[in-house]
Amino acid sequence: MNILEIIEKKKLNKKLSSTEINYFVNEYIKGEKVQDYQASSLLMAMRLNGLSVDETYYLTKAFVETSELYTFKKNKPTDILIDKHSSGGVGDKVSIILLPMLIALGLCVPKISGKGLGHTGGTIDKIAAVGMKSDYSLKQANQIFAKVGGVIMQQTKDLVPADNKLYALRDVSGTVDAPGLMTSSILSKKFVVNSDYIFIDLKMGEGALLTDLKQTEALAQLMLAVAKKMKRKISISITNMNQPLGQAIGNFLEIQEAVDFLNQTSIAADLKTLIYSFVTEILIATKKVKTDQQALKLIEGVLASKKALAVFNKWVLAQGGKYDPQSFKPKYQYQCLAKKSGYINYVSTHEMGIIALLLGAGRKTKTDVIDMVAGIYLNKQHNASVKKNEVIATLYSSNKIQPDVIKRLEKNVCYVARPTKVQPLILKVLNS
Ligand code: URA
Repeated sequence: MNILEIIEKKKLNKKLSSTEINYFVNEYIKGEKVQDYQASSLLMAMRLNGLSVDETYYLTKAFVETSELYTFKKNKPTDILIDKHSSGGVGDKVSIILLPMLIALGLCVPKISGKGLGHTGGTIDKIAAVGMKSDYSLKQANQIFAKVGGVIMQQTKDLVPADNKLYALRDVSGTVDAPGLMTSSILSKKFVVNSDYIFIDLKMGEGALLTDLKQTEALAQLMLAVAKKMKRKISISITNMNQPLGQAIGNFLEIQEAVDFLNQTSIAADLKTLIYSFVTEILIATKKVKTDQQALKLIEGVLASKKALAVFNKWVLAQGGKYDPQSFKPKYQYQCLAKKSGYINYVSTHEMGIIALLLGAGRKTKTDVIDMVAGIYLNKQHNASVKKNEVIATLYSSNKIQPDVIKRLEKNVCYVARPTKVQPLILKVLNS
């Protein structure tokens, strides 16, 4: 068997066997018989011709089998381990807010996240913006977990090494939006940890990897089928990502928004809806409460008492970081002013993600170094009322902001006479 035969087979839209998929995964990790350019070519064939349920199962299983398993020791036998994962969206900082809230509510959260993919951000890059580390051995991860009740880790050469290498390659080879590849990437990261409950937030829309509801529902069904074959239970919410989530897009900016949320100093309505809804779903699923009303009381309690904020601060320190709002000193900034009065609409959320990336918040090549302070702050969110010359958005970067980037933002804004209709945030919930 060799990689060229496997590429040829997938190019001709034939089904790959588990032996062929295992060969690809194992040899790519070793880096001798399968090189980046060959893996990239196979990924594109997989992206264009798709992967069946069986092929996706073989791929997910191979990812899991080539990884160390991270088993977290419970402090008490009644402790419940939660993993919530997002498929990624523009401005999505939900995982960073959810971890301290769930811990403050008595749950435990050990999880593996990823870096930014395409025009969407990644949790690992966001927490790195405040100096947090995430490449931990099992022993180190367990030490942090014992201290905080949660930990966020990234893929490493021991922890889902296949996803560690392929994730970075997909990001720069136009192969992120492939249902089979997304399934194996997301589920392998979930199945190497001994979580009791797994919640997946599948983002759908312009600011996500998949833009179409039918396609996203098919991805959800594929994930449920693979989870069943792997004998694990998952819950999937399909959520609307047709507008940026919250006001901040960019790594440090999003941590700042997460802190403001936990501190209750600035709360974007869409972010609040999503967070409250996920926490409610988790509290009911884990039998911590019976009703939405009981969940609401607990949620408001941990926010008002600043208990969740205290967990956040402890977590940042435990992972070697430090959050200091004064350290946000981007060298360049540009305020975008409203050209007219009216209600503001951001035409394309995908474009907002690309503009943030061009400012330095994302990677164009595997070796690009992220500018942690780069990004966009939406002084006015989609559908907000604005007066002519009010600041609608602020761009930040460590490098001179190019006129064409400013033009792209200005072209992406329009003014309407009344707010436009937006889809609900939670579109569907599915369980295995
Ligand atoms: N998140 C992941 O972890 N993997 C993907 O492929 C997409 C989103």
